[in-house]
Amino acid sequence: MENPKTGRTMFTPREVATVLAALRYWQATVEDPKEQSPDYFEEDEPLSDEEIDTLCENINFDMTLAELACAECGRRVTREDEGLCAECTAKAEHETEGGR
Ligand SMILES: [Zn+2]
Repeated sequence: MENPKTGRTMFTPREVATVLAALRYWQATVEDPKEQSPDYFEEDEPLSDEEIDTLCENINFDMTLAELACAECGRRVTREDEGLCAECTAKAEHETEGGR
């Protein structure tokens, strides 16, 4: 599934928790990322502290979106919809009634 705002692939909750924990640990413990992990930063500069904060916020935003996506069609829903958009809820109710 993709985040429509960033166009990036969303992660599972476990992946997000691990990535956030790793980023925060890295942010807190690594003094000089280029010296610590030179292979990763041959061409690109590591993110600054502020940029890592933003990245963590974006990852958290992805999670919020994942929680708010309709389980049926992926359309954005409000928390009150409890996992299904209004259309899919109506359809599910209709199908339940029709099956009786
Ligand atoms: Zn739906």
